[in-house]
Amino acid sequence: MDRRVYGVETEFGLVHRPAAAPEGVAAGPGRGLPPDELARYLFRPVVEFGRSSNIFIPNGSRLYLDVGSHPEYATAECADLLDLIACDRAGEAIMHDLAVWTQERITADGFNGQVYVLKNNVDSAGNSYGSHENYLIPRTTHFRRLSSILLPFLVTRQIIAGAGRVVPSDTEREAHFAFSQRADHMWEGISSATTRSRPIINTRDEPHADAAEHRRLHVIVGDSNMSSTTSLLRYGSTDLVLRMVESGVPVGDFELENPIGAIRHISHDITGQAKVRIRGGDEFTAVEIQRGLLERAQRFVRQHGAHHEHVQEIFELWERALEAVQTGDHSLIDRDIDWAIKKRLVEDVANRQGIGFDHPRLEQIDMAYHDVNPQRGLFHLLRRRGLVNEVITDEQVQQAMVTPPATRAAIRGEFLSTARAYGAECTVDWVHHKLVDRPLETVMLKDPFATEDPRIESLLARLGDPSTQLRELSLAERQQQSASVALSDRYVLAGPAAAAEPPLI
Ligand code: ATP
Ligand code: MG
Ligand code: MG
Repeated sequence: MDRRVYGVETEFGLVHRPAAAPEGVAAGPGRGLPPDELARYLFRPVVEFGRSSNIFIPNGSRLYLDVGSHPEYATAECADLLDLIACDRAGEAIMHDLAVWTQERITADGFNGQVYVLKNNVDSAGNSYGSHENYLIPRTTHFRRLSSILLPFLVTRQIIAGAGRVVPSDTEREAHFAFSQRADHMWEGISSATTRSRPIINTRDEPHADAAEHRRLHVIVGDSNMSSTTSLLRYGSTDLVLRMVESGVPVGDFELENPIGAIRHISHDITGQAKVRIRGGDEFTAVEIQRGLLERAQRFVRQHGAHHEHVQEIFELWERALEAVQTGDHSLIDRDIDWAIKKRLVEDVANRQGIGFDHPRLEQIDMAYHDVNPQRGLFHLLRRRGLVNEVITDEQVQQAMVTPPATRAAIRGEFLSTARAYGAECTVDWVHHKLVDRPLETVMLKDPFATEDPRIESLLARLGDPSTQLRELSLAERQQQSASVALSDRYVLAGPAAAAEPPLI
């Protein structure tokens, strides 16, 4: 497919760390809030606003709290990679705003300490949560071919797009740095379950599109990325591999004998020398498999042309990342690829403080890298100091918090904003648009690329019709109507003034 729809779902980690009691003072009300209680605090404005812990917001995205304690943000469907990356980063900013609100509330309720929202994939107890990618693919894609090409690509993709992880020592191994957060938590190659068995590719068939034409490929193996450059390489390379799968060109045979064994083996060998066996008996390193796929993708683009303007940038990053792993010169990518950025940070701290790799401080640095708080998070600190490269600007992120991308999400956003402006109750999901008062006129929109739809326009036009007895509300009325002050008009949230920049260590 030359035009594709993408979406990414991020589950966040939540932590409340009570402040240590001053010397000589009893600990008082400083107990840490358990994550599920903290999650309910975090989502209180969402529930007040939408009367549900599962809402769509005017930028077309979905905010969701399932049972448990990992709030989720699913980006709107995007047809452009930079829109996708900005929309995902907008989700971090929204979670941060909710965290600021939560911090105020729990302090008022007598809990001290700090609230942390982390865009990572493992908590300190070893639980894992995901970053799910969604790719629109043609229904005709041969699934056997898809999995034989895509699985080895995804198993080895961690060396170019992993978020990196400080792994503490245990009975079997010394403390070390791994490529991936998620690798140890995947249990199967392909399956239709997501939580029970944690497959790399999930085959549940919910296309949110015309099912006769399309599928939604659901990839659940990725690490959550902080770096927008890494994100571009992650989604961009996957899209290129999918294009080759879809076109039917020969891609070579890297089908792995044991994908789950391979993904772990690769993750824990930062030298990139780990070899994995493919069906038929040959052994390859992850670099060799990735290089094989990269070269085929380059050949494919030479023959078929580039389908968007970032293709050459993706190839350049992809090549450089493989070179860095192969040569061991990680400085080639330590401004661009999350694992290498984090590894440099962790090594700097270890050297400066003279501590060994199994010092607990380094696990804290790992977590702090993923803190979505722009003043406190270490990725953001590096960003501010000009130590990492970005492919999107802060303005694009601000914009993406309130503006949907140019896909079906634009219609959803307009629908939500207009209904809200008139105080009309409505419900939506990825395909449906309903005014609660007019259930029989629900509009179903299966084309995710559509940016306008006359049926929805006429439904909305009726809101201003005198017979509906609705009129456009003023901003003050709208804010009054929404019980929550934090979720003010169009999801522009006010946070407290920025705190002073903390020292790095
Ligand atoms: P759950 O999280 O409840 O298991 P889910 O994984 O099916 O549900 P959502 O969390 O609702 O789905 O997220 C769906 C994601 O798919 C969003 O990021 C959305 O932008 C994206 N998406 C929607 N329609 C399409 C489509 N036709 N093709 C590809 N992606 C899509
Ligand atoms: Mg989801
Ligand atoms: Mg999902």
